Amino acid sequence: MFENLSERLSGVFDRLTKQGALSEDDVKTALREVRVALLEADVSLPVARDFVKAVQDKATGQAVTKSVTPGQQVVKIVHDELIAVLQGEGEPGALRIDNAPAPILMVGLQGGGKTTTTAKLAKRLKDRDNKKVLMASLDVNRPAAMEQLQILGTQIGVDTLPIVKGENPVQIAKRAKTQASLGGYDVYMLDTAGRLSIDEELMAQVEAVRDVANPRETLLVVDGLTGQDAVHTAENFDSRIGITGVVLTRMDGDGRGGAALSMRAVTGKPIKFVGLGEKLDALETFEPDRIAGRILGMGDIVALVEKAQQTIEAEQAERMMKRFQKGQFNMNDLKMQLEQMMKMGGMEGMMSMMPGMGKMSKQMNDAGLDDKILNQQVALINSMTKRERANPQILQASRKKRIAKGAGMEVSDLNKLLKMHRQMSDMMKKMGKMGKGGMMKQAMK
Ligand code: GDP
Repeated sequence: MFENLSERLSGVFDRLTKQGALSEDDVKTALREVRVALLEADVSLPVARDFVKAVQDKATGQAVTKSVTPGQQVVKIVHDELIAVLQGEGEPGALRIDNAPAPILMVGLQGGGKTTTTAKLAKRLKDRDNKKVLMASLDVNRPAAMEQLQILGTQIGVDTLPIVKGENPVQIAKRAKTQASLGGYDVYMLDTAGRLSIDEELMAQVEAVRDVANPRETLLVVDGLTGQDAVHTAENFDSRIGITGVVLTRMDGDGRGGAALSMRAVTGKPIKFVGLGEKLDALETFEPDRIAGRILGMGDIVALVEKAQQTIEAEQAERMMKRFQKGQFNMNDLKMQLEQMMKMGGMEGMMSMMPGMGKMSKQMNDAGLDDKILNQQVALINSMTKRERANPQILQASRKKRIAKGAGMEVSDLNKLLKMHRQMSDMMKKMGKMGKGGMMKQAMK
């Protein structure tokens, strides 16, 4: 049994004196435990080492939040960093399958779950995305594999390319392409042959198929339980064939998910889907937070982390409110608010939580204040000096010009931001006057 990381960390921190901020030594001690936990979750040593270093830089000097222990706080930092590393760009599970018929090349070793995953993905594309899909097996050495895909196709109601004996994989790929075009398919999937281990013949064959098919997506299917081997396989396929994404299968098993972290860190390729069982609907988009929870190896970690998160946010909000009541609302506050808004799904979410702000949020939305504008506003604030942020009233023409230029925007954009800041600041003051502990306290509850 793995010892729970949280238990380990609390053990470590019980022995340490509580201080206002996480000291370098505290963090180091805690991270030794984190490193062991990562290695037990089958994260490769270099990846674990780099990861721990990144966390160390982030954690040292962080203020310890009231009502969570330093150990819990380190867990939270680790959890957030895991998600950051695991997160790929773009929508989870998104595939580039415009320009019909779009070829998807499925590659991987034998037994990794390639054929099953081909069918699962075809079913998903058909059911969720309403795509017309054609599947073709290129495994000419294993007639049983070709038949297997055909049977799966019948089960899920997806067409398969008729089997023609004596063709080579390249010929089959060409025939699939022609049939996909003629038959009005949106997507055609090429299920390539697998081997028990990587060999030259396999790679040459996949390469030849890739060259005729020119796939939009090349998905590597690997068994998530094989840990470091899966990463090694991915490196090999990527350097030789070039993959666009990974599907980790058998994530319903006992594995701790460490392969996912190594996979991301080593190959830099997104994990697009995970296989969660033998059934043909057991394919899900890759969710970094779930895997992060698994790697940390504790059922209650997510709840714990969320609680810590809420505490941290509540404390931040409380501090902010206290300052607003005193009529202090500078650009740093505005920036924090803007960032919070982005996190909370735009203006409305955040503003609606503050009394009197609902109307303003509607006005902002009506004015087209979407996330892009929020980003631009944050960029403008970032372009200000520390002093300017604390005292926006010192912004004269030359400063304004410099700030706007630094953010790649116009002075008129900056003026809009300043106007919004003034309006919000006035409102805060009014609300502050409404009585200490009155509405504000209510809002905090
Ligand atoms: P291929 O040789 O790579 O094409 O592998 P197959 O698709 O034939 O799969 C090999 C075995 O793994 C089959 O028994 C599948 O049902 C099973 N399998 C595939 N994906 C998963 C998964 O996500 N979870 C579990 N538990 N089994 C899987």
